[in-house]
Amino acid sequence: MKLSLSKKLSLGFLLTAIVSIFIAVLISNYMIDEKFNNYLIDEHKNKVEKIATIIDGLYNEKTGFSSSNKDEILRYANAEELYIEVKDATGDVALTSGNSNLQNQTMMGSMMGTMMNNFSSIKPGQYTEDSYPLSKNNKKIGTIVFGYYGTSFLNAGSLTFKMTLNHSFFISGVIALIFGLIVSIFLSKQLSSPLTKITDTANRIRNGDLEARSHVTSKTKEIDDLKASINYLAETLQKQELLRKRLTSDMAHELRTPLTNLKTHIEALLDKVWEPTEKILTSFYEEIERLIKLVEGLNNIAKLEQTNLNLNKSRFNLSLELEEIITSFQPQYSNSALKIYSNLVPNVEVLMDKDKLKQVMYNLLSNSLKYSRGGGEVTLYLKSEVNNITVELKDNGIGISEKDLPFIFERFYRSDESRDKNTGGTGIGLTIVKAIIEAHKGTINVKSKLGEGSTFILVFPKSIIKPDE
Ligand code: ADP
Repeated sequence: MKLSLSKKLSLGFLLTAIVSIFIAVLISNYMIDEKFNNYLIDEHKNKVEKIATIIDGLYNEKTGFSSSNKDEILRYANAEELYIEVKDATGDVALTSGNSNLQNQTMMGSMMGTMMNNFSSIKPGQYTEDSYPLSKNNKKIGTIVFGYYGTSFLNAGSLTFKMTLNHSFFISGVIALIFGLIVSIFLSKQLSSPLTKITDTANRIRNGDLEARSHVTSKTKEIDDLKASINYLAETLQKQELLRKRLTSDMAHELRTPLTNLKTHIEALLDKVWEPTEKILTSFYEEIERLIKLVEGLNNIAKLEQTNLNLNKSRFNLSLELEEIITSFQPQYSNSALKIYSNLVPNVEVLMDKDKLKQVMYNLLSNSLKYSRGGGEVTLYLKSEVNNITVELKDNGIGISEKDLPFIFERFYRSDESRDKNTGGTGIGLTIVKAIIEAHKGTINVKSKLGEGSTFILVFPKSIIKPDE
């Protein structure tokens, strides 16, 4: 059976309260019993010793006890509930109090014996006899025997004290239980009510309301964390949903354009409107090329995004490699009236997949070429820092708007500006770049302002890409 959090908490608090009160009662009873018993035993011993001294004083070695002395001793025996017997040196009984004053103790003694947990030598309820020397001038001239029931010294006052104490324990136990119950109900409400609200939000999200967010306020850190996680989850789902919709329409768009072109051109040929000239066939070829490029790109992404992407790593000089790539791009930049510069730290040795790195640079450089304006400038930086190697590509091209910036690494995502420019792009270049960089445990970031230019920053941790010397 599943219990609600508040029920579980209340039960837990109750159980803890009951157990702690029970333990407190046990321990304090035990402590009090022990201290109290010791006190009572000491008292009893003192009393008996005092009576023994008095008996010593009253006894006459020759005449024994006078009858008035005997009466006095019997009074003591009566008052203190003791059996007193005095024997002279020869062992003859000089005085005995008889045991009538002990009779009515037997019942109560055995009752108290079970109540009191006694660890002393005097057992409650048990008849005990103690012998003391009868002495005169420090000389033993006989024996005094004191007999008593273990509880005969546990007088009514002390019993009442113990009863009152346990009574007050019981009352404070009940108060503590009520208080504990109130506190536990209050605390469990404080915990369970925000949790129920967060669950409601999570259910709304599950049912497709991706706008739902939790606004619960709570002073509990874990609940705050849970709220933040649920909201983050909803945000991510919403973003993914948006991307999924956009991806479908973008993909349809990317495929439809070349296919429609081909269709209309072929119709024109069939209707004999056009002659199948070389120019027309070349344009067909280009459209088909574009479609192949698109499908290949998709295939590439699928491969690159496999969790265990196989990198064919080798050791090489990154500075030289980047320089070579720039040189190979130089003619295309010149043709577009653009300038390309490099600012590279020399001799940076790395252990990376060279072909994949070339693909990254190819995609980034092609983009800066596509998205720059005549007279623009592009600069490639290579920096070697303490823990990282950083590659930066800066252009002063058309830039990327703030709204597009979070999405440019998603497949098929193209900004409206780039669509207008008719660059022939497919929106998967940067997706591939990101996948390759992440396979090298690196990161890619972009800073950009619409109309001012963009900077792509690639950071690789040295611990991963630095070859062992
Ligand atoms: P595409 O094939 O369209 O270039 P990418 O994945 O390479 O696809 O880039 C995605 C989008 O990011 C581009 O459509 C463009 O809007 C934007 N972009 C990429 N690089 C740049 C850049 N250097 N300057 C401006 N916009 C860029």
